[in-house]
Amino acid sequence: MKVLIATEKPFAKAAVDGIRTIVEGAGHKLALLEKYTSVDEFYAAVADADALIVRSDKVTKEVVAAAKNLKIVVRAGAGFDNLDLAACTERGIVAMNTPGQNSNAVAELALGLMVYMSRNNFTPGTGSELKGKTLGIQAYGNVGRLVAKVAKGFGMNIMAYDPFVPAEAIKKDGVAVAASLEDLYSKSNFVSLHIPATAETKKSIGYALLSKMPKGGCLVNTARKEVINEEELLKVLAEREDLKYVTDIAAENQAELNEKFGKRVFATPKKMGAETAEANINAGLAAANQICKFFATGDRTFQLNK
Ligand code: NAD
Repeated sequence: MKVLIATEKPFAKAAVDGIRTIVEGAGHKLALLEKYTSVDEFYAAVADADALIVRSDKVTKEVVAAAKNLKIVVRAGAGFDNLDLAACTERGIVAMNTPGQNSNAVAELALGLMVYMSRNNFTPGTGSELKGKTLGIQAYGNVGRLVAKVAKGFGMNIMAYDPFVPAEAIKKDGVAVAASLEDLYSKSNFVSLHIPATAETKKSIGYALLSKMPKGGCLVNTARKEVINEEELLKVLAEREDLKYVTDIAAENQAELNEKFGKRVFATPKKMGAETAEANINAGLAAANQICKFFATGDRTFQLNK
């Protein structure tokens, strides 16, 4: 089988070497398309591929249509809003992600952003500590769970809201269960977002929730920019001069936010939650292993379009 890695933003060399070892070791061929500058290059490269590994690359219905032999596509990472699942399903292509492989990297960044905002954006002046503050975790998945674990080391009080995770599974980690989103926001000095971008969650974080945060509250977004209602964020930051917003995914109106609110807002220059050597390698190797297992045994453990 031919396995194509198509990455506009390439994997680290160690990851590609590791993927090659796994793929070729299982008797398949590896092809590489890196730093492509037009989708036409993607269409051409995918034409005879049996399997596809991508990072944030968009697997649109056009890509799916061009991929005549494709049987499986794996997004090396957690979020999979770059895959057109309906188009994959229509063609009988199995789509997977590699959940959990970059979670620690994202969790560490979330805590790092909290420290940054609590310490005057690393400029002189008196800051505050995370110890004793309440952290509200919105979505208790792979990243959310690790954020709870790391935040415990800082001595934070932790609560979480996730309607799809049984309360017992949250409580056993020593994390309080929020009765509702309103409950989470009204009690948390920091709210850390770990929801996926879905039809239900897009633009769901706005004025109504943010205005409930206690004085000095800070929203931490390492999830997706799409979950924020950006106009309402602007409104609430203007009204509440104590609130802060820190994000790994710059808002569409980030320049305006920066100009209006100065040190109360911060966006990383480029999404970097998963940008660690470890996460990069872990996700790439997991993708290769999942593909080889799928071809060898039909395993579909991480299939998204069931
Ligand atoms: P995950 O699939 O392990 O967990 C997602 C959690 O969200 C699940 O527990 C699910 O029950 C919960 N959920 C779904 N809808 C919800 C809702 N409406 N309200 C509350 N909870 C809800 O995913 P993960 O690995 O923890 O990643 C979370 C998100 O973080 C990803 O979807 C992705 O968008 C983002 N992410 C960002 C980066 C980055 O570079 N900044 C890297 C990895 C992941």
